[in-house]
Amino acid sequence: MAEPKTGELMQKIVSLCKRRGFIFQSSEIYGGLNGFWDYGPLGAELKRNIKECWWRSMTQLREDVVGLDASIIMHPRIWEASGHTSTFSDLMVDCLLTKKRFRADQIEAQSGTAYFYTGASDGQGSKECKDAFSVLIATGKHAEYARKVARQFYQERGLENPALQGERTDELKNTTRYNPENGSLLTEPRPFNLMLKTYVGPVESADNISYLRPETAQAIFVQFKNTLEVSRQRVPFGICQIGKAFRNEINPRNFTFRSREFEQMELEFFIRPDEVVQKRAGSVASLSDPQPSTLNPQPSWGWELWHKYWVEQRIKWYESIGLGRDTLVEYWQKKEELAHYAKATVDILFKFPFGTQELEGIAARGDFDLTQHQKFSGKSMGYFDEEAKAKYVPHVIEPSAGVDRLALALICNAYCEDQAPDEKGKLESRVVMRFHPRIAPIKVAVFPLLKNKPELVKKAKTVRDLLRPHMSVFYDEAGAIGRRYRRQDEAGTPFGVTIDFETLGEQGPALQDTVTLRDRDTMKQERVKISELVSILLEKIR
Ligand code: ATP
Repeated sequence: MAEPKTGELMQKIVSLCKRRGFIFQSSEIYGGLNGFWDYGPLGAELKRNIKECWWRSMTQLREDVVGLDASIIMHPRIWEASGHTSTFSDLMVDCLLTKKRFRADQIEAQSGTAYFYTGASDGQGSKECKDAFSVLIATGKHAEYARKVARQFYQERGLENPALQGERTDELKNTTRYNPENGSLLTEPRPFNLMLKTYVGPVESADNISYLRPETAQAIFVQFKNTLEVSRQRVPFGICQIGKAFRNEINPRNFTFRSREFEQMELEFFIRPDEVVQKRAGSVASLSDPQPSTLNPQPSWGWELWHKYWVEQRIKWYESIGLGRDTLVEYWQKKEELAHYAKATVDILFKFPFGTQELEGIAARGDFDLTQHQKFSGKSMGYFDEEAKAKYVPHVIEPSAGVDRLALALICNAYCEDQAPDEKGKLESRVVMRFHPRIAPIKVAVFPLLKNKPELVKKAKTVRDLLRPHMSVFYDEAGAIGRRYRRQDEAGTPFGVTIDFETLGEQGPALQDTVTLRDRDTMKQERVKISELVSILLEKIR
């Protein structure tokens, strides 16, 4: 089947998400709210599965990571210490005509003829506006296009019938000072803080300003000492958290990719500073060593190997939930791209239909965060390392991923159009969501072959109830069996169980209490015993 084009593919995905209840626009009946999304029944299950898989692999399957669940609103000094109050901003520009806001670095460079005006007076000359304005239009286009935009600008400023003043033109090349949508001049770039503000308590005063956290990581640093004391962990160890984060993004776009409310899954993995490793192990293993092993943590590992180790662990995890290595890109940030405190950052990118974009960042952040909180709170973040007989502020490796971006990546990755036979064996095209069984919203669908045969329905419900305690099951008796399969293909349900007359023993005792088990991807059906169904399915979905 021909591959759909990128824009077309995204449209199909967005429409399937709504049709099947993966993702809805937030507040849709009120016209929606830009940058906010709701997850429907299938989307809610998908997100839960993502978070559960991550949590399990990060904490429950490891000895050296514990969890945290902190509040969204925290002391505002935290954001001063982390640098978010002063530097967590994007440069933005506003269109002088429509007031629409853009990120300055996202304005495409344009060339053309700029028309400059010094001001305007209204028809009778009774009113004047001295605000300078300019408009960029394609070279060769009639001047009237620019004048029309300029007149709108002055009308907005109270002139009913503006007569433009001081028109002059200039040829501009590669300028980013004009709105690509209407040619209007933009404001100068200004920093715009991305944190969402609120007030805590009954008084809306500057003293009561708080922020909805823009990341979950800071709570981990702030609770480092408490967690250390109660968990009996020793450096190297990690604390992880899943939770909501909020950013007043200037241009939310690409469906849920850049939202204003989203969830993060973050780990702060605390390690010894390299000097301490050197003193204790005699040397610090490095990536430039011949064949460095990054599989099993060693006492000689400094930040470089720990960083590489986490990059590899994270990629393996993405593979384990169905994102093939060929869909991911490991991007090592260049020196000039690194945040001032970061020693190295690797972005794991996914090949979305709208471009290859970040899913997760893995940064080696040194001791920046703990040291800042030590300074701002006045509380020591020092750790006494019994083994190394040294006191230090631990360094940190931070793998930071977005749940919503990952859900979108998994949806894009799963979307597939192919052909399947209908009841009469005629091929028809189908949409199938090829989710890995581990993260599929529904694991198995149970169908009685016919709805109007009470014995089939009764048996099917027994099978449903047998499976329910172990996995998410969908029971469906409505419509032709082919149509029921198709519905589950679109939901991405990897397995279908059909209860037929053989199950009831009508074809002899050999097939009694057996069912057909259908595989979504191969569409192959095998006959299995009901008594073995739970163990067969558990094996496939774990
Ligand atoms: P970007 O450059 O795309 O804005 P970032 O580098 O600012 O992302 P981080 O601060 O490193 O992102 O956040 C870690 C992760 O949180 C990202 O990799 C992404 O998965 C997720 N994330 C960040 N911002 C958003 C957002 N606005 N909407 C959805 N997910 C987000």
